[in-house]
Amino acid sequence: MPFAKCPNCGQSFHLHIKGVPVWPDEPNGEKEMLCPGCWIDPQVGHQVYFIREKPIKFDPEDLGVVIEKIMGAEQETPIRHIQFVDGRIELLTRDKIYVDLKHHNSTTR
Ligand SMILES: [Zn+2]
Repeated sequence: MPFAKCPNCGQSFHLHIKGVPVWPDEPNGEKEMLCPGCWIDPQVGHQVYFIREKPIKFDPEDLGVVIEKIMGAEQETPIRHIQFVDGRIELLTRDKIYVDLKHHNSTTR
């Protein structure tokens, strides 16, 4: 099975996405490729993890919900207001956010 490493969160993950061409095996067996959790565009209501370090730890304290998406002309990339389980709110850029796909459907209204 193809194997890739995400440059954003540092996770290694198996690729099992249909339609993705299989590349020839390389000596280290890994490709750099964004994982689904870092690739999806976080929307309001999504459960997300703060990527505090790489590889991501999935610490329960780093679990939050997107409460606002800010599209600013001054920013090259949109930033998000994330509210964490302990109530704190932080502004994070996309490269600090991992979308928790397990809850992707249940939190979308
Ligand atoms: Zn990732």
